[in-house]
Amino acid sequence: MLEYTGTVMSWKRAKSRHRRFGEEGHTFLFGLSNGGVIDGSLGCNSARWLNHACVANCEAVEDDGRVYIQAVSDIEPGEELFIAYGLTTDGRSSAAVRAQYACRCGHRRCRGTMLAGA
Ligand SMILES: [Zn+2]
Repeated sequence: MLEYTGTVMSWKRAKSRHRRFGEEGHTFLFGLSNGGVIDGSLGCNSARWLNHACVANCEAVEDDGRVYIQAVSDIEPGEELFIAYGLTTDGRSSAAVRAQYACRCGHRRCRGTMLAGA
C-alpha cells in the first residue's frame, strides 16, 4: 500500500500556490474530508504519478488525514496503476475546464471526464 504523501494545507493556500506557479495540466491536490488538501507536488511522492482511469484498479483511502492508495483488483507485476481522480475545481465547470480534464482512458464505461460528479 502506497501513501499519498505531500504537504497538507488548506484549499485556499493550495489554490493560491498553484495560481502563483501557473501550473496547468497536472494537479496533485488531493482533497481531504476535513477540508484540508494534500499537495502531492511538494515533497517526495511517487503516488502522485498514478494515472486516471474511469474503471480503476486502485482507490484512494483516507484514514485520519492521511491518504493511502489501495489496490481494488488483482494487479499483475508491471501493470500500470490507475485511480479514478474525482477531481474538483473551484465551482466553475466551464467548457475549457472540462476540456482540460477530459478523459481518454478508452474504457467502455469511460465517463469522459476526470472531474468528480460530472
Ligand atoms: Zn475514462
